[in-house]
Amino acid sequence: MDKLIITVAPTGNVPTRKTSPYLPVTPEEVADDLFRCYKAGASVAHIHARDEQGKPSADPDLFQAIRELTRDKCDIIIQFSTGARAGKSADERGACIALRPEMASLSTGSTNFARSVNYNPPELIKDLAGRMTKHGVKPEIEVFDLSALEYAIYLAGRGILEEPMHINLVLGVPGSLSGSPRNLFFLVESLPAGCTWSVTSIGRNHRQLSALALILGGHVRTGLEDVLELEAGEPASNLKLVERIVALARLFGREPATPAEARTILGLPALF
Ligand code: ZN
Repeated sequence: MDKLIITVAPTGNVPTRKTSPYLPVTPEEVADDLFRCYKAGASVAHIHARDEQGKPSADPDLFQAIRELTRDKCDIIIQFSTGARAGKSADERGACIALRPEMASLSTGSTNFARSVNYNPPELIKDLAGRMTKHGVKPEIEVFDLSALEYAIYLAGRGILEEPMHINLVLGVPGSLSGSPRNLFFLVESLPAGCTWSVTSIGRNHRQLSALALILGGHVRTGLEDVLELEAGEPASNLKLVERIVALARLFGREPATPAEARTILGLPALF
């Protein structure tokens, strides 16, 4: 089996220090935490930015600061989020794409979050996809439902998304597809030939669905964006979450990919 690409999503937009005492917030804290996760086996960093109050921000300067501080320490693949929580318009959400990160997230459908809409209308998806093509950024297609997967395949068929795609199956978000093995199998069976894929399992089924993903040959995302506790009542850290995925992967015969190996698997150019 391929080496396992472990993506770490260290902050997301929702957790706070109240919900998660080990949450990194400032660019310096995020970069330090990413370096710890890189040393433990993470090869991709899925990055959101927070402002000085800790609120979600689409400010490209913050993304740039996180990238520079992280790049000073290690060669982990940098992926910026263009998700629906930090901005509304394509200009806001897509501002970080012009910084030419190696990857950026691209949701190809609308669903609900627990308290808001995961708003991704077709024109906005196409706009963000066009910016990624223009700037040479590989999208990570974020799929919260089968319809988003089918729409990504539709866009690829029209040349709007390049193949092979890298597709991240997101399960367990309240208001979107729940995190059951049956739902995961259903999505995996619907993937297009030749794609690479990973699983992001939010909340209580995180460990089980991550294990299924790596058994099935997929890759795995973990981090405080996705899960806040190691066990009930035991707050997680990004490092502990990455270490747990590495241990789980080794049980099933998969070694974590280095960033250089992950670039080869994802079809990204070498860094140096
Ligand atoms: Zn995210």
